Amino acid sequence: MRAAAAKLLFSLALLFLVAGNLSASFIVSAGRRYISDDEFAARYRMTSRNLGSRVELSDGVRKATLYPDKRYAIVNNIRCSLSFAPIRRGKLYISQLDMLSLFDALLGRRSVPWHKVGVIVLDPGHGGKDQGGAGLLYKEKDLTLQLAKKVSLLLQRAGYKVLLTRQGDSFLDLSARAAFANRNKADLFISIHSNATSNRTVSGIETFVMTPSGAPSDSSTQAVNTRYPGNAANNNSVALSGHIHRQLLAKTKAVDRGLKRARFQVLREVNCPAVLLEIGFLSNREEERKLGSDAYQNEIARGIAAGIMAYHRDLINASQKR
Ligand SMILES: [Zn+2]
Repeated sequence: MRAAAAKLLFSLALLFLVAGNLSASFIVSAGRRYISDDEFAARYRMTSRNLGSRVELSDGVRKATLYPDKRYAIVNNIRCSLSFAPIRRGKLYISQLDMLSLFDALLGRRSVPWHKVGVIVLDPGHGGKDQGGAGLLYKEKDLTLQLAKKVSLLLQRAGYKVLLTRQGDSFLDLSARAAFANRNKADLFISIHSNATSNRTVSGIETFVMTPSGAPSDSSTQAVNTRYPGNAANNNSVALSGHIHRQLLAKTKAVDRGLKRARFQVLREVNCPAVLLEIGFLSNREEERKLGSDAYQNEIARGIAAGIMAYHRDLINASQKR
């Protein structure tokens, strides 16, 4: 009798375990692993609140909002593109690739490796016969050079060695820019561009980081598994982009168009932490006017320099805690 009762209890316990497992800590969908929101929150020592249409994670200082079926999240008030949309199955499940290649860099404490920050290469987009985008008043190739020179001054004053891929109005192809950074042993690479689109109401700042291997870029849904030199420093690039983007928005009050992913050639080929900035739209009259003004350019330059220095400070602080 006793044995039978024990057996029944055992079966009940087993059933309970199996039922409990229905809200698993991870699922696999389309061959990819997704982590449950509570497991995800525990990784960053945050609490999670599932509100149905979104999940909010917070620890009082850092915060993140995740949405089912949306390929972006809000992390510390910045819009960040995701490689794959989270899936709702009772809990919300976040792709492991996004966890490792985005959230770890923005929310994790130990996932951004230390490196020295001595040489910074600034890359003013376009030049010479390649004018880039153009508005009514200004050409992209001129704005990017003016900005790079302003950023260079600020960083040199702070003690960094700064190199520009071009000093004047000269043409330089994309591989030459990446090769310049690699040859000069750049510790950071910042490519500066301005945007343009047919919709003249669009404005704001976008910051691009190299797309992780196994993920689609923002402009696509097709995952690419190739690994490029630019994939090696992913978490550093993401952390750097977060700091620069935040400082740019704070200084300019421009529209946040987000941290995005693209396999731009310079981002593919540069082998140090790298970001590509789209600092505003020349196709938007109001933004074009601002972009041409000395005062607004100074704010952009201050934002870029402040972001780089905040990233560097974070690296030093984290290395001292270890
Ligand atoms: Zn450009």
